[in-house]
Amino acid sequence: MLDSTDLKFAFEDLNLADKPVIVHASLRPFGYIKSGVDAILRAMLSSFKSVMMPAFTYKTMVTPEVGPPNNGIIYGSEKDLNKMAQAFTLNMRVDPIIGILAETLQIRPFATRTNHPILSFTGIRADEFLITQTMTEPLAPIGALANADGWVVLINVDHSVNTSIHYAEKLTGRRQFIRWAIMGNRIVECPGFPGDSSGFNAIAEHLKADTRRVEVGAGFVQAVSLKCLFEAVQELIKKDPLALLCQRSDCERCNAIRGS
Ligand SMILES: [Zn+2]
Repeated sequence: MLDSTDLKFAFEDLNLADKPVIVHASLRPFGYIKSGVDAILRAMLSSFKSVMMPAFTYKTMVTPEVGPPNNGIIYGSEKDLNKMAQAFTLNMRVDPIIGILAETLQIRPFATRTNHPILSFTGIRADEFLITQTMTEPLAPIGALANADGWVVLINVDHSVNTSIHYAEKLTGRRQFIRWAIMGNRIVECPGFPGDSSGFNAIAEHLKADTRRVEVGAGFVQAVSLKCLFEAVQELIKKDPLALLCQRSDCERCNAIRGS
């Protein structure tokens, strides 16, 4: 059984005490952890300068009947989901696909959360990054984190959930999308929505030399600086404009990028 000390040692081994980080995590491979998710959060907060996580909420999204072309979407296809869509609130639960750690972070007393209806971020000691988000630049906190020599920490997950790669894609000029979400009593347009991330792990082999990795229990923690990550992504897409796209023939967003 793991306890908070094992996790604290693992995070400390990454040697990032003076770095702000963005974290993505799946806790399942750790099995039962003594004192639970809170212990992991405490270990993170004592091992990194600041902690930010995505707090995305997809149940706010609605798909219109019509909209702009080449937008990686089938208009009129989500009538049932539209009926279930809910207005964003700052205490809305983080989507389960993002994981319990982000939800645990956003409900902590000293956590801040941005108010983007789909792509909100949450963090502690991360306000200087969080305040950069706007409706037109939803991923700006990642850019601000990179400017502060930030790192991405992946706990038991690979780069297919690494949101920061989307920021680097945008830097290369790769197509972004428009989505819609309910905020208050109206539907708002959300530009700058990123593409599909399921092909992102192809970046891993290009980051081997720059990745710090620590095994812990049956799981692992790996970290790479955003600067290295952005350089690797930009280089790869420059060489191959279709790099990091997925191979599914029915993937609307990857197909839209292939066609643009
Ligand atoms: Zn795809």
